[in-house]
Amino acid sequence: MAVEKSYQEKQQMACERAAELKNKINDYREALNYMPYGFKNWPQIQENQKRIKDFFKATDDDWENWRWQLKNRISTPEILKEILPIDKQELEEIRETGSKYRWAISPYYLSLIDPDDPDDPVKRQSIPTINELLDQEGYDDPMGEEFTSPTAAITRRYPDRLIIKVTNQCAMYCRHCQRRRGIGEQDLATPREDLEEAIKYVRDNEEIRDVLLTGGDGLMLDNQTIKWLLEELDSIEHVEIKRFGSRTLVTMPQRIDDELCRIFSEHLPLYVITHYNHPLEITPRAEEACFKLGRSGVSMGNQAVLLKGVNNDPFVMRKLNQELLKIMVRPYLIFHAKAVKGTSHFRTKVEEGIEIMEKLRGYTSGLAIPHYVVNAPFGLGKTPMLPEYLISMGKDYLQIRTWENKVVKYENK
Ligand SMILES: *Cc1c(COP(=O)(O)O)cnc(C)c1O
Repeated sequence: MAVEKSYQEKQQMACERAAELKNKINDYREALNYMPYGFKNWPQIQENQKRIKDFFKATDDDWENWRWQLKNRISTPEILKEILPIDKQELEEIRETGSKYRWAISPYYLSLIDPDDPDDPVKRQSIPTINELLDQEGYDDPMGEEFTSPTAAITRRYPDRLIIKVTNQCAMYCRHCQRRRGIGEQDLATPREDLEEAIKYVRDNEEIRDVLLTGGDGLMLDNQTIKWLLEELDSIEHVEIKRFGSRTLVTMPQRIDDELCRIFSEHLPLYVITHYNHPLEITPRAEEACFKLGRSGVSMGNQAVLLKGVNNDPFVMRKLNQELLKIMVRPYLIFHAKAVKGTSHFRTKVEEGIEIMEKLRGYTSGLAIPHYVVNAPFGLGKTPMLPEYLISMGKDYLQIRTWENKVVKYENK
């Protein structure tokens, strides 16, 4: 006969379990000592900013003005080498790659790069390398977007929601961009007629309840155009929510100005989906922009892309998603990097992504766990990739595997 355990015995067991759990986080805590992240690197980033401002002879007001940031994007090797130490060979490669694939970096985003770190994750995402030209594997349009555009500016892949591409412009051109084919040498806002046609399509199709405004970067539009678009969408009864896709929270947080926040606060419910890939991108300045949006009533989500050499590491992903929660951004997706021409050096195997998911679940807050998805070919949609936790199903029970890899029987009557 089982004897009821005493209070002391129960407490003893709880303490042993707590010690066991405490041991499961030591490796992560150790890794943080070597991992760069924005809040830790902030003093150095501020020094970089001072250097860049001196170079441009910019005032603090200039720096905080997003138009200034945009106008002074760095996009030639000549200017880059004045700000970052770069050797001759690398400069030549940047020049060569840059003649095929456009690049540009806002002064703010450039300031996040640690000049002494050859593996800097911000540099990998923003400065071209010769790998882009060496790529023999990728495709220009792996998602077949051209086949899912019922009007010029729309991509529709789902029953109840769609994307409107409002511009091809960005504050920084990601080296892993999935739409690089659309990033020409020219910044092009989508013509007003195309936007009007897209809105008409939404108006005429009553099942569309969720409209995503993206690009390029949805927040490269000026405030007046954003206001107009939101007013149009809010005048359509069946549109329930709007989302903006924008990386400005990462690359140019100055974009979140008072007027934009006022406009947003008048057009709730509104979601801004952004694209942080590494904890180094989460700085006090980025936090300020996110809090400002949050106070305006905007909800924020993050779509990361799994990138070799940037964030294909369970500890980096854990830190990234935890830092996101601290700045009010809910981790939403991790995209598997698709076979876009010029980006194959960033691709990982799907197994790596699944391993990362495995090392998130249980180890950190459920809120810090995004969905890992691959984009199916031919525009067939986002498809979740999951570690398997259901091992088998008996008649009245399941066999399940816990986050610690303990296999247990679970009653299911
Ligand atoms: C990603 C995407 C959406 C949004 O999908 P969610 O799963 O709702 O985030 C909508 N339309 C297109 C074309 C997309 O690629």
